[in-house]
Amino acid sequence: MRTFTFYDRISRSFHQHSSLSKLLVVLTVSGGGIAAYAEPKSPGVNLINTTEGDGDGKKKKVVVLGTGWAGISFLKNLKNPSYDVQVISPRNYFAFTPLLPSVTCGTVEPRSVVEPIRKIVKKKNLDVVFSEAECIGIDAQNKKVYCRSNLDSNLNGEEFAVDYDFLVIAVGARVNTFNTPGVVEHCHFLKEVEDAQRIRKTVIEKFEEASLPSLSDEERKTILHFVVVGGGPTGVEFAAELHDFVKEDLTKLYPKVKDIVKITLLEAADHILNMFDKRITAFAEEKFHRDGIDLKTGSMVVKVSDKEISTKERNGEISSMPYGMVVWSTGIGTRPLIMNFMKQIGQTNRRALATDEWLRVEGCDNIYAVGDCATINQRKVMEDIGAIFSKADKDKSGTLTVKEFKEVIDDICERYPQVELYLKSKDMGGIVDLLKESNGDVKKEAIELSIEEFKSALSQVDSQMKNLPATAQVAAQQGLYLAKCFNRMEECERDPEGPIRFRGEGRHRFRPFRYKHLGQFAPLGGEQTAAQLPGDWVSIGHSTQWLWYSVYASKQVSWRTRALVISDWMRRFIFGRDSSGI
Ligand code: FAD
Ligand code: MG
Repeated sequence: MRTFTFYDRISRSFHQHSSLSKLLVVLTVSGGGIAAYAEPKSPGVNLINTTEGDGDGKKKKVVVLGTGWAGISFLKNLKNPSYDVQVISPRNYFAFTPLLPSVTCGTVEPRSVVEPIRKIVKKKNLDVVFSEAECIGIDAQNKKVYCRSNLDSNLNGEEFAVDYDFLVIAVGARVNTFNTPGVVEHCHFLKEVEDAQRIRKTVIEKFEEASLPSLSDEERKTILHFVVVGGGPTGVEFAAELHDFVKEDLTKLYPKVKDIVKITLLEAADHILNMFDKRITAFAEEKFHRDGIDLKTGSMVVKVSDKEISTKERNGEISSMPYGMVVWSTGIGTRPLIMNFMKQIGQTNRRALATDEWLRVEGCDNIYAVGDCATINQRKVMEDIGAIFSKADKDKSGTLTVKEFKEVIDDICERYPQVELYLKSKDMGGIVDLLKESNGDVKKEAIELSIEEFKSALSQVDSQMKNLPATAQVAAQQGLYLAKCFNRMEECERDPEGPIRFRGEGRHRFRPFRYKHLGQFAPLGGEQTAAQLPGDWVSIGHSTQWLWYSVYASKQVSWRTRALVISDWMRRFIFGRDSSGI
């Protein structure tokens, strides 16, 4: 009884006195992703004041669509109390997607990778209101979004409108089936927590089904044929997880069927993990080969029926194979909401909503888009070359001296990041080297460029422009960037910090968004992971797996999920994965 009271008291103290939690946060060392919750100001459960506008007539209303990586990063970092924030999302939690493949096989439990939104926004010293609903339309002209409740209990699907002063679109993307017949009807996806739960249940069901006494060997083989479509990081990680689950846990429990389980990984390109370094690809392919995972590259799925999956091979031949379960993981597509909105604002033939380098949706006022639903339309140097030249040519002599040029170099590099990338790719010390190249063997100080020479010096820099990948890392950095802009909106209005406006007057209010690549992991199973770190540094093997554990533990959105994930990993080490079909 006494011990109980002791634990009880400690636990209650932590709940009631957030300062204790904060102390714990300060005392504990971590690499990032800290969620130190402050004293709740408002319970954050008020239902929305939908169309009445600002409460006190002063606060600007910020509406955030989506509670994924980008939306949550924005909310967690927003500190300016001069906004009324309204969050709208069809799910009331944040999901840590990089651990979803672990959820499919019970290495990590689903509730360990999610955090309720209300808990995240409760810490805020801000007015944040959440509504569990889906945005079904955006009216940019009247600054309104239309939403529909998707709660099961709300059978009528209640609809409402919300006004905004600023809109942050962070609705992510949906799975991409490339309109392949039968995929929607017969395949599993791995995008949401529910998908991972369904996969876990189906895998167990397949093992039970194959163990029924009345089946032929052929039927058992088909049932236990697991096909993964897509050799990107998610498909590869899932195939590796499944292989470990089967080898380490299921074969012990289903000894009769253990020799007939087959995992096939289909990839349309020539290699898996082709966004990674060649060494990683080669290691992964060899490891899968050793593990007995049947890797079929150059194999494009053309149709999935209820029993067979058909592929088109490199030589044009169509072949079919029977399967027990297919997991489809081939990249992302555009959500209908975004597609309709793009049509409305004249952005057609695009995969995602185009924004400028400040993450503002092109052609719209006060609308921002972050994460997988957006893509940055980086301005080309060659489009502005005339404007850059005349801004730099201060004495209007029609030529550009090194001195004149040096005064605008920083602004050029900031406004057009491709210039720096180009210099790096050419191993050039500075932009003056580039000018020198086009101006012959003249001494650096004596360089004087005409507009034509200037154009030819910079003619290749735009080749370095790349679209950012659709990853959590990009989404989180964009959310953080945007929150920082919102935090300093008035300050930077008075005192702009961005580069010169080459096509206008004055300076840009903010510095443009810059993505910082921190590296990428590819877990390959058997406690081995590959990592590609900045500077093309590659690390593969067991030690990288430990790096993976520590990075993903530190990146958790709260201390609660961090503790749950770590304890799940320990549970798995000690007891193995649970194979109950619940
Ligand atoms: P999401 O995180 O998808 O969030 C979108 C949000 O919008 C959700 O809350 C959704 O409910 C909501 N929403 C949807 N429609 C509407 C609507 N109509 N109205 C309002 N809200 C809406 N990236 C990495 O960097 N590393 C990894 O290891 C990694 N692993 C992954 C593993 C898996 C299995 C998956 C699926 C993805 C992985 N990713 C990884 C990619 C990463 O998850 C995405 O890039 C990231 O989630 C994008 O963030 P987002 O905020 O744009 O979208
Ligand atoms: Mg001049």
